[in-house]
Amino acid sequence: MNVHDSEKIAALMEKSGYASVDDVGKADLIIINTCSIREKAAQKVYSQLGRLKEFKKRKPKLIIGVGGCLAQQWGVKFIERVPHLDLVFGTHNIHSLPDLITTVEKTRAPVVRTDFHERVKSLGILAPIQNGKVTAYVTIMQGCNNFCSYCVVPHLRGEEESRSLPEIVMEVEVLASRGVKEVTLLGQNVNSYGKSIGNGHDFADLLHEIGSIRGIERIRFTTSHPKDLSDGLLRCFSELDKLCEHIHLPVQTGSDRVLKMMNRCYTNADYCERVDKLRSICPGISITSDIIVGFPGEAEGDFQATIDMMGKIRFDNLFSFKYSERDGTAAADLGDKVSESVKNDRLRIVQALQEKYTLERNEAMIGNKEEILVEEISRNSKEDVAGRTRTNKIVNFRGGLEMIGKTVSVLITDAYQHSLRGRLPNVN
Ligand code: SAH
Ligand code: SF4
Repeated sequence: MNVHDSEKIAALMEKSGYASVDDVGKADLIIINTCSIREKAAQKVYSQLGRLKEFKKRKPKLIIGVGGCLAQQWGVKFIERVPHLDLVFGTHNIHSLPDLITTVEKTRAPVVRTDFHERVKSLGILAPIQNGKVTAYVTIMQGCNNFCSYCVVPHLRGEEESRSLPEIVMEVEVLASRGVKEVTLLGQNVNSYGKSIGNGHDFADLLHEIGSIRGIERIRFTTSHPKDLSDGLLRCFSELDKLCEHIHLPVQTGSDRVLKMMNRCYTNADYCERVDKLRSICPGISITSDIIVGFPGEAEGDFQATIDMMGKIRFDNLFSFKYSERDGTAAADLGDKVSESVKNDRLRIVQALQEKYTLERNEAMIGNKEEILVEEISRNSKEDVAGRTRTNKIVNFRGGLEMIGKTVSVLITDAYQHSLRGRLPNVN
C-alpha cells in the first residue's frame, strides 16, 4: 500500500513540473514516505533522515519532506526531533503536497499538515504506469475500523472509507487501455468494501464488475480479514475466471486466547473452517498469511498452537514478525510482556519451519503446466523472463523482451525457496 502511495506522490509532483533523478545528491526535493507498523520501520526513517542532514548543509535550498504513518503520528514533534526537516504531511494530506511545497519555498519555514478529512482526496490519483508494465495496484479503500489491539493503522490512517464502484471501474478501464493486464485491488480489509458508502455494492460485486472489463486478464486483492471472508466472496473463486487462485489471509496466531486479546474476532477453528472451504471450492488455491510472535502474555502453549496450526494448514508463504509495541494501541497497556530473546527464538522457529513448508509446496508444482503472465526480464539473467503463476509464485524461464505482456503456458521444472524455474513446453 505504501509503495502505491509513493507512486501517487511521484505522479503528483511530476504534474507540478518535477522530474525524478537517479541520484539523491542531485535532488531539489526529497520526500520520504514512512511506515509505522513496527518500531524497526520507524527507526529506519530516523537514520535515513540523519544521513540527509549533510545534503541539506551542502544545498540549503533542498526541501526535505516526510509523509505517511510516522508523519501522521509525530506531526510537529517530527520537526522538533529533526530540525532540518521542512515538511511533515499526514496520511490524508497527500493531495495537498504541491501546495505545501510552494508554501515552504515561499516562507522557508517548516510546514506541518496532519488533519484528517472526511474524504481522502488522494485515493483518486492515478499513478503513471512505468514503461511496459503490465501489472498495477488500485486502491479501493483506505483506513480501517477493526482496531486489532496491536495495530496502529486505524489510529494513523483513520476510518475505513471505500471509493465508489464507478470510480474504481473507470480507473481500471484507463489502466487496461494503457496495456495493464493484471490489477491488484488494495485495502486494509477488502472484504468490507462498500460498507462505508452503503450503496448496496459489496466486494464480490466489485470483483464481478472488474471481471467484465476488456483487456484485464487477472485480478488479485489484498488484504482479507478472516472474520469477514464471506461465502459470497469464496464463491467468486469458482465463478470468476479472472480471479487468481491466491489469497493472503493473515491469521496472526493459532492460539484462541491470544486471538481474543488481539481483538481479531475469530477462533483457530473458524480460521481452519474458512481454509477448508476455500480449498474445497478452489483446490489449487495458494494461501499466504501473517503471524506475530511474542504478543504480550503469549505463553509456550499459545506459541505451540501457532506451530501446530502451521503444520496443519501448510501455508504457501508466510510473513512473520516479532510483536512490536506501538504507542496508543490497546496492547501497549497489557502486562506480561514477552522478552526479546524469547521473541527472537520463536521467530527463528517459525521462519525455519515455514522455509520447509514453502519449499515443499513449491516442489509439489514440478511437472505442472502453469499459466504465466510475463512481467519483465528476469533479475537473475538477461536471457530469461520472469512472471507469476496465478497462485502468485515467481517463475523464471528462457525468453526475451517480446514476451512481456503475453500469457503463456510454462512447464515447471525446478523449485526453490523464493521462485520456480520452468520452460515453454516445446523448448528444451
Ligand atoms: N490489514 C491487514 C494487515 C496490515 S499490517 C490485516 O489486517 O491483515 C500487516 C501485518 O503487520 C499484520 O498482518 C501483522 O501481522 C503485522 N503487524 C501489525 N502490527 C504489528 C505490531 N504492532 N507488531 C508486529 N507486527 C505487526
Ligand atoms: Fe490493523 Fe487489524 Fe486493521 Fe489490519 S485489520 S489494518 S491488522 S487494525
